[in-house]
Amino acid sequence: MADHLASIYGTEKDKVNCSFYFKIGACRHGDRCSRKHVKPTFSQTVLLSNVYQNPAHEANCALTEPDLQEHFDAFFEDVFVELAKYGEIEEMNVCDNVGDHLVGNVYVRYKYEEDAGKAVEELNNRFYAGRPLYAELSPVTDFGEACCRQYENAECTRGGFCNFMHLKLVSRPLEKELFAAQEKSLYMMKKERRRDRSRSRDRRRSRSRSGSRHSKRRVKRDYDAKRDYDDGY
Ligand SMILES: [Zn+2]
Ligand SMILES: [Zn+2]
Repeated sequence: MADHLASIYGTEKDKVNCSFYFKIGACRHGDRCSRKHVKPTFSQTVLLSNVYQNPAHEANCALTEPDLQEHFDAFFEDVFVELAKYGEIEEMNVCDNVGDHLVGNVYVRYKYEEDAGKAVEELNNRFYAGRPLYAELSPVTDFGEACCRQYENAECTRGGFCNFMHLKLVSRPLEKELFAAQEKSLYMMKKERRRDRSRSRDRRRSRSRSGSRHSKRRVKRDYDAKRDYDDGY
């Protein structure tokens, strides 16, 4: 029985839990859904709802395709750089759907759950383009399951109101550049941390060589300094 329940959890056969919320992190019924939206306590993924405002969705949009791509790339870069301050990003996706629950949604999957948790806490106090941000931990981890396959094959007949993700794609060179920059800064950070650690080891050694016994208070101070540093990136 338990095995059976586990195997249908979050699927269309599950009469209790909403499969849309489980797979896509947003359902068109919102809080009034007849099935449960079980919000995760821990997750690598953060959802920022309704952030990207695509000018193409405005009436009388006169921008060309290249202009629109440029507009989106600038947004993607801006948000990626900001979100990377909370931790290592594995994937970032932006929805191009037009339904209220999906329009402009940004999903970012971090490598570590702690970083996602920290990001949610801090992002809820921030604004983007003059509007407050709404961040939450999302159950979505597999974007393959969340995305509309027909859309990827240019066959989706539901258009922007489809309830599966239609992703707006960032230019490949920019995406590569952003991940390479992230990798480089993580490498520099690790190097710096190693240097810091060996410096404090040297200091401890020279202190014990000069005969001074290190007091408990000093050890605690070293520990606190290191912790501040770990928390600080
Ligand atoms: Zn639902
Ligand atoms: Zn679709």
